[in-house]
Amino acid sequence: MTVINDVETLKNYIGGKWVESTTSKHEEVPNPATGEVLAIVPLSTKEDVNQAVRVAKNAYKEWKKVAVPKRARFLFRYQQLLIEHWDELAKLVTIENGKSYTEAYGEVQRGIECVEFAAGAPTLMMGSQLPDISPGIESGMYRYPMGVVAGITPFNFPMMVPCWMFPLAIACGNTFILKPSERTPLLANRLVELVTEAGVPDGVVNIVHGAHDVVNGILEHEDIKAVSFVGSQPVAEYVYKTAAANKKRVQALSGAKNHSIVMPDADLDNAVTNITNAAFGSAGERCMAASVVVAVGEVGDLLVERLKAAADEIKIGNGMDKEVFLGPVIRDTHKKRTEQYIEIGEKEGAVLLRDGRNEGDQENGYYVGPTLFDHVKTDMKIWKDEIFAPVLSIVRVNTLEEAIELTNQSEFANGACLYTDSAKAVREFREEIDAGMLGVNLGVPAPMAFFPFSGYKSSFYGDLHANGRDGVEFYTRKKMLTARY
Ligand code: NAD
Repeated sequence: MTVINDVETLKNYIGGKWVESTTSKHEEVPNPATGEVLAIVPLSTKEDVNQAVRVAKNAYKEWKKVAVPKRARFLFRYQQLLIEHWDELAKLVTIENGKSYTEAYGEVQRGIECVEFAAGAPTLMMGSQLPDISPGIESGMYRYPMGVVAGITPFNFPMMVPCWMFPLAIACGNTFILKPSERTPLLANRLVELVTEAGVPDGVVNIVHGAHDVVNGILEHEDIKAVSFVGSQPVAEYVYKTAAANKKRVQALSGAKNHSIVMPDADLDNAVTNITNAAFGSAGERCMAASVVVAVGEVGDLLVERLKAAADEIKIGNGMDKEVFLGPVIRDTHKKRTEQYIEIGEKEGAVLLRDGRNEGDQENGYYVGPTLFDHVKTDMKIWKDEIFAPVLSIVRVNTLEEAIELTNQSEFANGACLYTDSAKAVREFREEIDAGMLGVNLGVPAPMAFFPFSGYKSSFYGDLHANGRDGVEFYTRKKMLTARY
């Protein structure tokens, strides 16, 4: 282990061993709540990627032949280990990401659910047959893995997002290279250690730490057959185009600007509780965060008053404190970017109802308190851009039709929520809204692992979504056999 001032320099995990990167470039990984440096992450090179691919390609030769029920049994063991290490994993998420322990604990659950889904591989991998496509001729579809596949993940769900990818990919018989976010690399290392502890052979799951050089190494490597990406919009678009240009299958989940429409007949207690959780939980750093409230008709003034009162009650601080709801944002640069957006919102003429600047431990952590803007308009940057922080914009309209029309003007189409008691309104919302994941009377409608996680427009590039049957399709290729006997 290399030690710089008593802080560990992380290594890549290749072929079941910790391998030092060939890079000379490194980055510090601070705890966003305290600024304390937790580790040094290597910004690995293309050569490191090539090494991982060689090992993964070799491991694939054997892994693809392991019987599917046996592969599933590894997943069952892995699920058990994750359950046993739940608390440890949740703490690691809080320490490196900043979200509250409760949120982190929930995130670990979402990761475990992905493993549980992947353990259904024997059913999921089944093909289909037709005995008589013509007299004496039958036809059948058989499902096979792709080969070496890779995943590139963001900082905001260090557990859940990698678990969308590698458990299902390896259950389908692929071998895997994970490039975790360089801002949250620690949890990924524990995840892969537990993969080995579950008995999965060396080389089946590998980690190469780093940033764009590793991403480009993955995108350009001809032996990587599919790339799953989750991250911000510009990078998702780049990954999609570059991976496709290099003839890879690609799914690139991207940014969001999720609208929550509140109707005059909504249960306001429920709406306020759910919107507050969805807007400020995980410091707004969720692709399913509520970032815009659309208040319909006379509900506006009371809703705004209640949202502000709820935001005033939020406890800000280190997520390890179990009372804390709102932790820091990920980095000082992200805090400054968020503060700039608050300035921009003021200049654009939105009404700053609650200013979260200068809240929390400003000396050491990267805190922004809950921030609320009222009377936001669609020509404002704070309405258009994904801020990815605890900043909530409120727009006011007169009808549901206007609310839907306004929401659909967003370039993003990840999630959208409606608060109402009216079945007719729910139907209109479901039919007309542009978003992949809809919620009714709840705040974060993130689908469970057996459904696809799906956005569109600038929120997703590709065809097959993450998780669910889409995930199985993504990580497998099909062969058709037509036979005369
Ligand atoms: P990011 O785009 O900065 O980073 C994501 C990954 O891309 C990281 O592994 C990073 O190292 C790599 N990367 C960053 N810049 C790169 C570049 N120029 N070239 C090549 N690779 C690069 O995203 P983030 O800040 O870590 O995560 C937050 C974003 O992820 C938000 O936009 C959020 O909406 C999105 N997200 C989307 C979903 C979804 O399901 N749609 C889920 C989670 C997060």
